[in-house]
Amino acid sequence: MPISRHEARELTSRGYEMRATVLNGTLCRQQDGTWVVDERSVDESLQALEGQQVILVVSAIQEGAGRARVCPVCGSEYDGYECTHCRQVRRRLRGP
Ligand SMILES: [Zn+2]
Repeated sequence: MPISRHEARELTSRGYEMRATVLNGTLCRQQDGTWVVDERSVDESLQALEGQQVILVVSAIQEGAGRARVCPVCGSEYDGYECTHCRQVRRRLRGP
């Protein structure tokens, strides 16, 4: 299921904060069978990590971001599946 543009931005910035390899763009297969995200080679990105334990998180991003919804709890507007503000509050209360 695609994630919203807002969620994608959150995920991307968390990835950069944690100094993970982040490829963000349009996924295409080249004629030689290799994959690229925009201009960046997926193969080269993976090659740098070969032999290491990794997590690979991939998601489609919802096109044309859906209508913003208003959270019934806090009144914030959000465009994902749940209110970003309330989710962050819950995360803070629960701890990391
Ligand atoms: Zn909320």
